Amino acid sequence: MESEYIRCKECGKAFIPSKRRNQLYCSHNCQVVHNNRIYNARRAERTGPNRTCKECGKRFYSLKSSARFCSPQCYREHERKERSARRQLTAIAQMRRKEKRRQQERDAYLARRDLEAKESERAIPVRVSIGENGLRIESRGNCVGGNASHTRHTP
Ligand SMILES: [Zn+2]
Ligand SMILES: [Zn+2]
Repeated sequence: MESEYIRCKECGKAFIPSKRRNQLYCSHNCQVVHNNRIYNARRAERTGPNRTCKECGKRFYSLKSSARFCSPQCYREHERKERSARRQLTAIAQMRRKEKRRQQERDAYLARRDLEAKESERAIPVRVSIGENGLRIESRGNCVGGNASHTRHTP
């Protein structure tokens, strides 16, 4: 029957009280935790809050100098944010690595193309002469007098 169960004042778990009638906690541990909390709360009332929650910014009291959060909820929320921030950072790092690789491949390709272009330019001798109209004529190719198809006029 429902009435046989009692909810633990500390963890909220339903349990059947044994022996003692006024059992408020499911376990000795919960009772200790609860008593500590009450003790700390009373102490906090006397001394005032001594720490600031890293998550919600609320001032709270804790005996532990390493305490960073006012409640387990704030701790969980903080962990959740940290996890998603880490995931995001990993995703960004991956994207940057990919982008860098693409850039390197592009650079390598352009360098290779430049080199090939230079080599093919070297293979064709360039002769410079001044034409009848006074323009510089650069002739590429081995044919004397310049080949029309390889002639470029530059002012
Ligand atoms: Zn409990
Ligand atoms: Zn908080």
